[in-house]
Amino acid sequence: MKAAIIREYGKIALEEVAKPDLQDDHVLIKVKYASICGSDQHIFKGEFHPRTQLPLIPGHEFAGIVEAVGKEVKNFHPGEKVTVDPILWCGKCAACKVGHYPACSSLKLIGIDLDGGFAQYVSAPAHTVFKVPDHISDEYAALIEILSIGFHASARSGLREQDDVLIMGAGKVGQSILHAASTITTGRIFMADILDDRLAIALSAFPNLFAINTTRTDPVAYVKEITNGRGVDVAFEAVGHDVKVEGRMNPTRTCVNAIKGGGTVCVLGLGDHPTEVLMKELIWKEAKIVSSRVSHGEFAKAIDALDKQTIHPENMITGILDLEDTQQGFELLVAEPGKHLKILLKIPD
Ligand SMILES: [Zn+2]
Ligand SMILES: [Zn+2]
Repeated sequence: MKAAIIREYGKIALEEVAKPDLQDDHVLIKVKYASICGSDQHIFKGEFHPRTQLPLIPGHEFAGIVEAVGKEVKNFHPGEKVTVDPILWCGKCAACKVGHYPACSSLKLIGIDLDGGFAQYVSAPAHTVFKVPDHISDEYAALIEILSIGFHASARSGLREQDDVLIMGAGKVGQSILHAASTITTGRIFMADILDDRLAIALSAFPNLFAINTTRTDPVAYVKEITNGRGVDVAFEAVGHDVKVEGRMNPTRTCVNAIKGGGTVCVLGLGDHPTEVLMKELIWKEAKIVSSRVSHGEFAKAIDALDKQTIHPENMITGILDLEDTQQGFELLVAEPGKHLKILLKIPD
């Protein structure tokens, strides 16, 4: 089969490799589309985590058609449209014992720790495979993983029906939160970024969004102005690093200052450096900071939202390339960060 493989950091190339073996409890999937994730970009540069080993076929966001099923698999059949929740937890650690799988101390992901979906075929344990209704496009099916991240963050934050929301960061994760949050709350949604192009992508799907370019507008002051001094109920930190903007607080501290008394800050941007928060600003509000990692049961929510068409995430797909052009995909994401969110890879038949 054809697969895009990283053998040295900064390079990914198409190769002919052996098709994965089908184990008895696995489903063999013929991949239609895979999507390049922010984590893939870090893996590509060799900056993700020391646990990542090369060579690697990346790709933890993908969808396709069941090609074959292992002997023990009863609930999937060849020809069905499916996607894969790439998370493999150990089942034995303290977190797993209480069912808190995203916190598994040795969490592994298909496409990060094992070969993934930038390939014609992937073999995945049947319990990680989800059926996708036929009327959901193959392209949307490849977005289910990233959308599940937004639904999980929304769940972790305790977001409710009429809550006002601030999302710091209009990248892949921020936009997935935006789609998910839009299915939960009818309240005001604010989104802040330093790139107008990214905010424009969000506005194209959500014209009522309160978009804030932090280089021109102070997000805390703006949120306070629109909410009559109250602040938002929930703020999400989806930037992951301290973007330095003259006269502005870092994104996490912005969240703390933008929430109401008793509000919640949900952090999910993966930064490599400590970030400064003035704790008394949090304490005076007796506010909560919660974190959110991967997803936990939200694949079903994302599939349901696409099924019922309560979300239309076409704005997230900013490019579709052939698998052989994967290297170009990684380079475009770096060269044009404002223009690109999700670049999909079309897998050859
Ligand atoms: Zn991802
Ligand atoms: Zn575990």
